[in-house]
Amino acid sequence: MTTIAGLPTARGFACGPVFVYRGDGEIPIPEYVVEPGRETDELMRLRRAMMDTRRDLENLIAILRERTGRADVRVFECHLMILEDAALVEEAEGYVTKDRLNAEAAVRKTANAARRQFERMNDPYFRERVRDLDDIERRILKALTGFASSPHLELKTPSIIIADDLTPSETVQLPRELVLGFATNGGSTTSHVALLARALALPAVTGLGDITSRVKPGEFVLLDGTNGAITLNPDRATIRDFSDLVERQIELTENVARGAPAGTLKSGGEVRIFANVHPGVPLAGIREQGARGIGLYRSEYLWLIRGVEPTEEEQFIAYRDAAKFAATLSEGGSITIRVLDIGGDKLVRGISSKEANPFLGNRSIRYLLSHRDVFRTQIRAILRASAYGKILMLYPMVSCVEELRECAVAVAEVKASLEREGIPFDRNIRVGAMIEVPSAALAADDLAKYVNFFSIGTNDLVQYTMAADRGNESVAHLYQPTHPAVLRLMRMTIEAAKRAGIGVSVCGESAADPIVGILWVAMGVEVLSMSSTYIPLISKILARLTREDLKEYAKVPESMPPCSTAAEILAACHKFLVGKIPNLDDILI
Ligand code: PEP
Ligand code: MG
Repeated sequence: MTTIAGLPTARGFACGPVFVYRGDGEIPIPEYVVEPGRETDELMRLRRAMMDTRRDLENLIAILRERTGRADVRVFECHLMILEDAALVEEAEGYVTKDRLNAEAAVRKTANAARRQFERMNDPYFRERVRDLDDIERRILKALTGFASSPHLELKTPSIIIADDLTPSETVQLPRELVLGFATNGGSTTSHVALLARALALPAVTGLGDITSRVKPGEFVLLDGTNGAITLNPDRATIRDFSDLVERQIELTENVARGAPAGTLKSGGEVRIFANVHPGVPLAGIREQGARGIGLYRSEYLWLIRGVEPTEEEQFIAYRDAAKFAATLSEGGSITIRVLDIGGDKLVRGISSKEANPFLGNRSIRYLLSHRDVFRTQIRAILRASAYGKILMLYPMVSCVEELRECAVAVAEVKASLEREGIPFDRNIRVGAMIEVPSAALAADDLAKYVNFFSIGTNDLVQYTMAADRGNESVAHLYQPTHPAVLRLMRMTIEAAKRAGIGVSVCGESAADPIVGILWVAMGVEVLSMSSTYIPLISKILARLTREDLKEYAKVPESMPPCSTAAEILAACHKFLVGKIPNLDDILI
């Protein structure tokens, strides 16, 4: 038996066979001239690969239709059209039958010629088709060479996915019903695959180093996302202990579901706890976990799931349905829809451009302000949906006042056109800025003049303050939410919000950290929004604290000696909470 420690990334436990996902590297292809008389065999090989590709595409379209509940699979339908293009098929077959090229070389030669033609065209629509061509070429070459294809095509039994790393688009394409959990070599607790694992209520461990080379496909393992470990070849006693942990976790969820509303304090009163959601992941579970509303709707997943820009109508339907659902969570249950937060590691083929440093590039609100048509369409869809529920609109990655001024102009223009068309919307829709880069925290007093609330995105705020990539396990030790610099920026933001009389919430995953999340509340944050699987845990801790306790808790970091480190502050916070809740460590299992 071997237990390997990693980063506890998404709580929960799973056991089962592993599926090792090796990702999509460059496909090496052989190029040769087939022997005279073997042309027909080679032609049949090419046709079989095309048929397999068509079948895989049709399956994928069917899966996506079922998953998104709608028929927006245009990108893959476009791939099917390219695959069936008579001229392209004829050209590829000609290379085999006349020039005696092997099938792989024939596909590459055909694709290269078509790529050159598309690239020469002035029409951006056709230039974009180059990417589709790349994709379809890859699929046919995979079918010919047997190169490992995407996991959604290969995964047959419920498994624990083991990978070097997974991108958000790879993760959303996995068949949820067959995924028991994730374990990755790289990644970290706030990487996007981690957040998705939490939203899907799937356990995950990241930062395991070389786990992909230590497991064999199909091997039985235990995955402990709560403590951050994976056990290979577990013995009987370990399997028994593991089952106990699973029971205790289930108990925790059930007790909260039966008890007082989530976030109720021992002294009465409550801290509002909302859920972070990803479109495409069922919402029903967040009610059971106790969410009082949706504090962060990551709209970019509508783009990631489809691989293309959703239309205004598709966005409107998604926002309206989510808003109607949020209204059922509590009285006046609201939803905060964050506009497209694309970029960084959330890349959409054909939409995101190549940048040397995407985390500091044209992402999020910067992207929207430089793609006004995309922004206008989204604002319109959100405003139209605001007639059906209480919607708040949130701008990601704000770094200066100019951006908020431009957002206000864009919103005013769309409102005016909806007025002219007589389309109903909430005229007083509240807008907020995410505070997730240091410049925003430092300029919080100025930004507060343009918005109704701040939502602090600690996932990025910690990353940008510490200059430590949130998804890179080798700098995970520097990713410190309790670093004095981060605490100072948090304090500045909260105080600026109070001075301006606007709301302040935290929607970064630190809200779900039992020690850090409670600290934000103590420092004056009014709403915590988190992956809903964590709501029972945070509620259980809040239920053991009074307002007085929270006031004292806020003073803990301030009372630390000068030059204290993040670890020392965290330890002092932990010690304080254990003083108030002696069985804290049992609750945290
Ligand atoms: C954050 O940065 O804290 C946040 C909530 O946004 P995301 O994790 O989607 O970048
Ligand atoms: Mg962010």
